[in-house]
Amino acid sequence: MQRTKIIDTPKFIGQTVKLAGWVHIRRDHGKLIFVDLRDHSGIIQTVIIPDHVEAHDNAKRLRSEFVIEMEGLVKERPLSARNEKSPTGSVEMEVVSIKILNESKALPFELNKDTKAVNEELRLKYRYLDLRSERMHENMIMRSKVVKFFRDFLATQDFMEIETPILGKSTAEGSRDYVVPSRIYKGKFYALPQSPQQYKQLLMAAGMERYFQVAKCFRDEDTRGDRQPEFTQLDMEMSFVEQEDVMNVVEEMLINLVQTLYPEKKIQSLPFPRITYKDAMEKYGNDRPDIREDKNDPNLLAFCWVIDFPFFEKDEESSTGWTFTHNPFSRPKPEYMDDLMKKENIGDILTTQYDIVLNGFEIGGGSIRNHQPEALRKVLEIMGIPEEKIQRDYGHMLKAFEFGAPPHGGIAPGIDRIVMILQGEPNIREVIAFSKTGEAEDPMMSAPSELDENQLTEAGIKIIKKKKKLV
Ligand code: ASP
Repeated sequence: MQRTKIIDTPKFIGQTVKLAGWVHIRRDHGKLIFVDLRDHSGIIQTVIIPDHVEAHDNAKRLRSEFVIEMEGLVKERPLSARNEKSPTGSVEMEVVSIKILNESKALPFELNKDTKAVNEELRLKYRYLDLRSERMHENMIMRSKVVKFFRDFLATQDFMEIETPILGKSTAEGSRDYVVPSRIYKGKFYALPQSPQQYKQLLMAAGMERYFQVAKCFRDEDTRGDRQPEFTQLDMEMSFVEQEDVMNVVEEMLINLVQTLYPEKKIQSLPFPRITYKDAMEKYGNDRPDIREDKNDPNLLAFCWVIDFPFFEKDEESSTGWTFTHNPFSRPKPEYMDDLMKKENIGDILTTQYDIVLNGFEIGGGSIRNHQPEALRKVLEIMGIPEEKIQRDYGHMLKAFEFGAPPHGGIAPGIDRIVMILQGEPNIREVIAFSKTGEAEDPMMSAPSELDENQLTEAGIKIIKKKKKLV
């Protein structure tokens, strides 16, 4: 007999079906044993009566999270016994046979209620169990739907999904890189991408015109609350566009996303309000303002754009005293292009950067880029990067722009944050299947971990152990 999905059981009233899944809850009333059986699609109440001797004996052995296969008759429940809250609440299954496919040890925490209250490190250690709980399971389903929505939407807008390398080159992009030693070229290292920024711009130079990628980004930042060493962006780049064009595509995509997957939610204002950096700082004291009119309403989504950021800010460590605020590849607003080229009024130059903010969280940012090599070079010079380093870290970009790179710009909405807010979760770890702790550890796999001596030798790495102080 073919297996039936639990969610489909109400279609089989009066018929015998085969189900498979996990024992969610077992209630032993002596004669009658009730088992709530759970699979990916749902939960159904089943009943095992003593008449079916073997099934009844097996049912006595069942414990939470045993994996079983059951055959039985789907029966309509009397009106008084229906559970309106459950999609299978109008039926129950009278079990004829039970096959135990695998047993489960006693669980480290209960899965048939919300695991929010359980110690998070324990949840992460047993993440494969945590993900069986209803809320986490739902978070994964919705995340998958959100990503699919983005892919489908962007395909209708002529975007192409292109993968870019994970093993790349270290480029000074603002954060610290994760580095990977090269075995073949001892003493040399790859860097994991902080974002595919340079590759996506090179794809524009390659004539791809509209690119996107569900991109993993890696940043070795000091662990601060809600950061993860790796996170996922919907990375996008478009050719022959202005600021408005990129903002419009993203705005339309987000509105459609909410209307399609979260129809119960209300977007506070359409089109999304635009706030200048200056106004945001004056009015809200930060550049990711929470403009919700009612902060108690979990279904209210207050999107806004923040624009007109200063391009440069003071930096004591820079030889010129300046560094970029967001992205060295950004282009200034057209009216400041002259100042950039003359390296004048540096503190007044505004960039084309646009950040998208939702309920007080920055959920993405992007800009129009400098596609002419002279303009990019001016930015790097203002930042005081020595010629040698310009050539080493940015030479490939400057060169690529010498061969007819089109004007282009992009953005990268953060998938983890978007799903977190839409799912009403307090942090991104709740919407990442195998998240690390706030301290960048994976307690399930025990990562990071030490390497075998021969792996170190192959990679040409010597560990310098700190000598313990003798007291
Ligand atoms: N690369 C930028 C970031 O990761 C986004 C962009 O400008 O497209 O924040």
